[in-house]
Amino acid sequence: MRIVLLGPPGAGKGTQAKRICETYNIPHISTGDIFRENMKNDTPLGIKAKEYMAQGLLVPDELVVDMVEDRLKHEDVLNAGYGYLLDGFPRTVFQAAALCAINAKKDCELDFAINLDVPLDILIERVSGRRICPKCAATYHIKYKKPLVDGICDLDKTPLYQRDDDKKETVEKRIEIYQDQTFPLITFYEDKQKIININGLQHMTDVFNDIEKVLSGVR
Ligand SMILES: [Zn+2]
Repeated sequence: MRIVLLGPPGAGKGTQAKRICETYNIPHISTGDIFRENMKNDTPLGIKAKEYMAQGLLVPDELVVDMVEDRLKHEDVLNAGYGYLLDGFPRTVFQAAALCAINAKKDCELDFAINLDVPLDILIERVSGRRICPKCAATYHIKYKKPLVDGICDLDKTPLYQRDDDKKETVEKRIEIYQDQTFPLITFYEDKQKIININGLQHMTDVFNDIEKVLSGVR
């Protein structure tokens, strides 16, 4: 099974990715991991990526595609019958088209692009309401998972804080970037009849059940 997982930051992609991969025995391939691995091992692609990053430049699409193509040659992908779940890739239509070409070389195509759909205002509320305990890393939400005493960890009475990444303006910016990049991708996969829209507002178990209903058809 070959899956691309799309969804804005804060939509719960990580949790769903893990469950899908465990259930269907496919490797979870995140671009973040690929980058770290290539750079840690100083592969030719990793060295190139470092050069861009050292100059404060974005790693170009072509290089990202090369890294993903290389990753898809690994044993875990082949053992899964050329199966994978991609997370964080593709990010652009260029990358999506490149993925089609990579699959075509294997006489394969993508099964689904799963889109975790969460209304943006709710997403912003979810993420910007998060509070974290610096001592025990317990997470709270100012509306949905309140501590017993406002702003204080239930477990160790430490004052809670908000991660910079979770600040409203930061979240809005990230979502804006995501939307600009991803709406064309959703259209791309709609045209290929690969897109599966899943209501990401539900409890994570229900989200997974909805995903499973679709995936079980091709198992
Ligand atoms: Zn705590």
